[in-house]
Amino acid sequence: MAHNDDRGVLRTPGKGSMALNAAVIGGGISGLAAAYRLGGLGHHVTLFEGEDFLGGLGTTFPCRGGHLERFYHCILPGDHALLRLIHELGLGGELLWKRTGMGFMYQRRIHPLNGALDLLRFSPLTFHERLRMGLMGLRTRIAGMDPELDQVTAADWVKAQAGERVFEILWRPLLEAKIGDQYPGLPALWLSSRMSREKNTAPEVKGCLVRGYRSLIDALEQGLRERGAEIRLRTRVAAIERDGEGMALRFEDGRAGSFDLVVATSPLPQFQRVTRGLGLAPGLAELQLDYQGVVSSVFLMEQPLMSCYWMPVVDSGVTCQGVIEMSNLVPLERSAGLRVVYLVNYTHRDSALFAKTDDELLALYRSDLAHLFPGAGDRVVEQFVFRAPFVEPIWTLNYRAQCPPTTAIPGRLYLACTAQVYPRVNSWNSCCEVVEGMMPALAAESAAVRPRESAKSA
Ligand SMILES: Cc1cc2nc3c(=O)[nH]c(=O)nc-3n(C[C@H](O)[C@H](O)[C@H](O)COP(=O)(O)OP(=O)(O)OC[C@H]3O[C@@H](n4cnc5c(N)ncnc54)[C@H](O)[C@@H]3O)c2cc1C
Repeated sequence: MAHNDDRGVLRTPGKGSMALNAAVIGGGISGLAAAYRLGGLGHHVTLFEGEDFLGGLGTTFPCRGGHLERFYHCILPGDHALLRLIHELGLGGELLWKRTGMGFMYQRRIHPLNGALDLLRFSPLTFHERLRMGLMGLRTRIAGMDPELDQVTAADWVKAQAGERVFEILWRPLLEAKIGDQYPGLPALWLSSRMSREKNTAPEVKGCLVRGYRSLIDALEQGLRERGAEIRLRTRVAAIERDGEGMALRFEDGRAGSFDLVVATSPLPQFQRVTRGLGLAPGLAELQLDYQGVVSSVFLMEQPLMSCYWMPVVDSGVTCQGVIEMSNLVPLERSAGLRVVYLVNYTHRDSALFAKTDDELLALYRSDLAHLFPGAGDRVVEQFVFRAPFVEPIWTLNYRAQCPPTTAIPGRLYLACTAQVYPRVNSWNSCCEVVEGMMPALAAESAAVRPRESAKSA
């Protein structure tokens, strides 16, 4: 029987359990963590990743002799599951924690927003509105994540606590920035979870690995290989099917493979597409969950832009909805002494913005930068652009009751993906928590499975 050790990590099963041929679909953090845990149980793991790199949304790109994240990423002190994994992989000594700050750009003016005093000075709101905002933050911290908030929209919740004008000036732009025009359906539970996660330390502290996410991805890859796992890049799964008692994967290139056990980590709509023929329970097969995508530009700059780590941009005459100055957290050695800045938009994969060419996006964000920070355009040394179609699930009311289970077919097929992090914030930590939460049932249910001779990878 598998068991959790004193750090909550699932350990190798005892006598009687058989090593199974397991497939993991996806090489983002969910897939890497799932494969690592399955390998820890003694199973033969093959991980299939459609792209030619590991790390999913947290992946990096080579830059000036090192690696930078395609999309800004940080770690928070409460990211316990992720931190556990980092320590387990021997990277604990590479964690770096820093006091960081938040700004809020409204009509091109930067307002610091780091605590009660800043809020009291936040001039876009009246004094009375600032007090109501403060009370709202306090109540959220004290009440924690009230499950009742799943039935209330974030918009109604904010308006009831802080008033219509506070919602219009501060919160509507922020919700729109994250979810787009589907923000009216977003549950208040998600917003309160976000507020608790991001502002749970005073002063705000954020963390990173000194060598970046690259070191964690590489350590997971090495850990997998040490546990005997195979990693197949550029191998996209087109369908998951039944194969007698076991499972079969059909790949886009026409090949196929048989497995005793499959763990999929694709975003829910993609999982539903590849499991169409399996007759899974309606809660998994028919749940409607759309995703917001992202478009982001990375700038290497000669000089700093601002003193805070992140700053939403509201009503300032630009396309981008946020600026993140990563170098206020990450050591400059990682970028050859240059400042790393991200301009970002969360936008649907069907939007006109997402459809723009790379050149159009580079020019657009360059012009945004110059508009927001006069003179900064001349200090850009290099610029990159990245996009991803499936990032942030667009949660709907009452999602808690509908959140898909991790078990799809007991002992045979499992799902661990961003559709299951709710009401937690979509993050590497939440993905690790979903994987850790899945493992006890997977271990117990698959203990009865007998490995088949024919089960082997393509
Ligand atoms: C702009 C931005 C900022 C963020 N900031 C933070 C942050 O500060 N801190 C934080 O912790 N998190 C942050 N996140 C969120 C974090 O990146 C995600 O929570 C996490 O990466 C999700 O991991 P995943 O493995 O579930 O999915 P993904 O990273 O999307 O990985 C899924 C992988 O599966 C592969 N795949 C899918 N279907 C198939 C198939 N059929 N066959 C083969 N391969 C397949 C995909 O190619 C992909 O590599 C941020 C994300 C973005 C975009």
